[in-house]
Amino acid sequence: STFDEAKLHPAMKENVRLARYNVPTPVQKYSIPIITDGNDLMACAQTGSGKTAAFLIPILSKLFGKAKKLAAPRPPPGTRRYKAEPLVLILAPTRELATQIFDECRRFTYRSMMRPCVVYGGADTAPQKNELAKGCDVLTATPGRLVDFLERGLISLRRVKYLVLDEADRMLDMGFESKIREIVQKSDILDDGTRQTLMFSATFPKSIRNLARDFLANNYIFLT
Ligand code: AMP
Repeated sequence: STFDEAKLHPAMKENVRLARYNVPTPVQKYSIPIITDGNDLMACAQTGSGKTAAFLIPILSKLFGKAKKLAAPRPPPGTRRYKAEPLVLILAPTRELATQIFDECRRFTYRSMMRPCVVYGGADTAPQKNELAKGCDVLTATPGRLVDFLERGLISLRRVKYLVLDEADRMLDMGFESKIREIVQKSDILDDGTRQTLMFSATFPKSIRNLARDFLANNYIFLT
């Protein structure tokens, strides 16, 4: 099995080739068609399994060519107050993981109209705000910093079409459940049935299954 067999945009296939990802890992092999077909997904995946590319490749591939129509207009250069309106939101537990995801976002948004950004706690807000003010279509965020930026009116989630909860069990272990629920429920994510939600977790305690029940479509696919 290779990436050539997957239903991916030609520009994404080229990005995969440039990344030298020649053979999909198991989680990629199973997740990519499920996500491409528009299903919500709960997948078992450990760090190092290739899970980041497993969700980024199909999501971004679907947005290649469509982003121009869906994305918010770019702010004029030098804009200082600007509300970022990402199409893709990826939540991750730590700065390290968020940074790794952002690096993969850069790799796979190449040849697209999409601009990736990352925000995380424990660092100055100014550089993150400056990056957001250049436009942000694909946002990777830790929950605390995202809630902070939502409250300050720096980010709106009204355009989000793809929501990913990465390492969901770790986010719960770190006490982020209420922040995640706040982001998903009380935020302005427009749940008009067109949003696709994906959860990745190494373990499946009751708390994770409850999140899946509350956030994923009833017919979500469970991949172990
Ligand atoms: P992850 O589990 O997403 O943190 O990925 C682990 C590492 O594997 C990252 O450094 C990726 O760049 C790399 N990787 C992911 N998918 C592939 C693939 N199909 N072939 C080669 N390397 C990959």
